[in-house]
Amino acid sequence: MQITRNSTETTPGPSDWFTGTVYIDTVATPSEPYRLQAASVHFTPGARTAWHTHPNGQTIYVTEGVGLCQRRGAPIEVIRPGDRVFFEPGEDHWHGAAPDRFMTHLAMHQVDDQGSAVTWGEHVTDEEYDAAPAR
Ligand code: MN
Repeated sequence: MQITRNSTETTPGPSDWFTGTVYIDTVATPSEPYRLQAASVHFTPGARTAWHTHPNGQTIYVTEGVGLCQRRGAPIEVIRPGDRVFFEPGEDHWHGAAPDRFMTHLAMHQVDDQGSAVTWGEHVTDEEYDAAPAR
């Protein structure tokens, strides 16, 4: 048993990976042989991830606010607290807050043999983001 008290600093989401202001609270950091990585990710209004994929897939669970998510080639979906989304391994996608709302989700994924849980692509443009449906 290992207890980690509430002592881990909130870190800003790097601008290479996110558009807008995002804060990350680490929930689980794997050490060999464990693979589960998890974080509570706080998106300010309009903030979102870049396009990306996960080698072993990802589940997000919305805990606050109103968010958006999209897989490549499909419409943007509105997501709300209690909604969970599974992204298939290798499925190109993004997730973030609605333009006028905060959104927090728990993100859970497993690292691969190299310790990586995500491969980042290009940013979601304003044009792509603005295609979101009315909420
Ligand atoms: Mn993802």
